[in-house]
Amino acid sequence: MSFVITTPLYYVNDKPHLGSVYTTIICDSIARYKRLVGEEVIFITGVDEHGLKIQRTANEKGIEPKTHCDEISKIFNFNWKSWDISFDKFIRTSSKNHELVVNEFYERVKKSDDIYMGVQKGWYCVGCEEFKDNPENSSTYKCPIHQKSLEWKNEENLFFKLSKYQEQIEKIINEPNFIEPIERRNEIINFVSRGLKDFSISRTNVSWGIPVPDHDKHTFYVWFDALLGYVSAISSSEADCSLEKSINEGWPADIHLIGKDILRFHAVYWPAMLISAGMKIPKKVLGHGFLTREGQKMGKSLGNVLDPDLLLSKYGNDPVRWYLIKDISLGNDGDFQDKRFVDIINNDLANTIGNLLNRTSSMSRKWFDNKVPNIQKISSENKLENFAKCAVENYILKFDNYKLDLAANEVLSLAINTNLYLNDNQPWILIKDKNNLPIVEEIIYNVLESTRIIGLLLQPLLPELSSKINEQLGSIYKKEIPWEQQLRWGLLISNSSLPKPTPIINKLEYE
Ligand SMILES: [Zn+2]
Repeated sequence: MSFVITTPLYYVNDKPHLGSVYTTIICDSIARYKRLVGEEVIFITGVDEHGLKIQRTANEKGIEPKTHCDEISKIFNFNWKSWDISFDKFIRTSSKNHELVVNEFYERVKKSDDIYMGVQKGWYCVGCEEFKDNPENSSTYKCPIHQKSLEWKNEENLFFKLSKYQEQIEKIINEPNFIEPIERRNEIINFVSRGLKDFSISRTNVSWGIPVPDHDKHTFYVWFDALLGYVSAISSSEADCSLEKSINEGWPADIHLIGKDILRFHAVYWPAMLISAGMKIPKKVLGHGFLTREGQKMGKSLGNVLDPDLLLSKYGNDPVRWYLIKDISLGNDGDFQDKRFVDIINNDLANTIGNLLNRTSSMSRKWFDNKVPNIQKISSENKLENFAKCAVENYILKFDNYKLDLAANEVLSLAINTNLYLNDNQPWILIKDKNNLPIVEEIIYNVLESTRIIGLLLQPLLPELSSKINEQLGSIYKKEIPWEQQLRWGLLISNSSLPKPTPIINKLEYE
């Protein structure tokens, strides 16, 4: 069985923003972690390309929707590569293979007698691609997310019988692990308790979409088609892509990681659609919060949008990953603050982890001829070994529960404790008396060993920094030995040579 994790399929109306970078980095860390603990991972990302909003965006630019989508999806794909995102599948919902899967899925839902023709009347936000429930003063009402007026729609659409699944959906969303965090689950439970209404799955005025097979003027509603991207992605790169093949090769998803604004689609509509098609539902829907900047919502009109490309070129991958993973508790809203960013990177990465490596390798260089000390006897009580074992255990427990911020904190506290161990033992004073040599050898060995484990634990979080640390210790991660085995204490080889030290992280300056 594969472990399937997905980012949302990003809407191609614009290039990736910080929010999409955040979601994708979290997914990347989880995917890397799962691979390290030996699971076969399918990490899916991609783009959602259809719909009225895209059609209009392209029209405004005076180009074909397809041309617009080619352009933006290329940017997304390139962008994730520059962030070193380890995705396995990149799905475009405008691809022929995806269309094939959507049609097969539609046939199944039709066979369950869950599709009928009806009239859709209501106020619609093109930004959300969603009908809004009876807003007050509809003509002046603006969508709170998009700050745009709603449009009145009155057209014949195909409907999906969502109401039929009321009881089943209630049961699913009440499962303790299906929706996380709990605040999000409660919102959904509340929404479902008001009664599920059938929703339209086709449009007659949108040409940029997948044609509904038996209804000439209709294209599929963008959400109906986009959610299926998670399924089609699994076999989309194969010549004989099909719904059946995707099901056999990995479905269902283990986690959909999404922003809280699209939770309803993933936790309510999507499971019902899947049950109707006789398919398994995803195991977990994890809704993360929104990102603000210096406490303010980011927006073009406010002129405070933080460009992730700029962050990447200025600071590199690791600092941005560390801030987003460690400073934001997954599920809560997060805030990006310039000063806090600099402080966190300097304190955690430069002063704590970087400095630890610097001082120990310089001591080894000076006293042990650039080698890992040759330890002669192990003292009965090794405080640092106990710290490290505890940190590894907690880290794994936290990662398994997707508490990435807490896992990151475990690594950091091991580094802090290792620095303290050095300060407490003061090998620079002990070394002055030759009789203390065995004790000093043991201290330095312990510190190097703890640093090696820190490097390994950083692997899913900060892949670049992790490999730099491991290279500095001459203990480049060996793929053939399981990662968890390599986390065992005492594997650093005595008397092995240490490479020439180079700085692994630079201190940042305030702007
Ligand atoms: Zn909206």
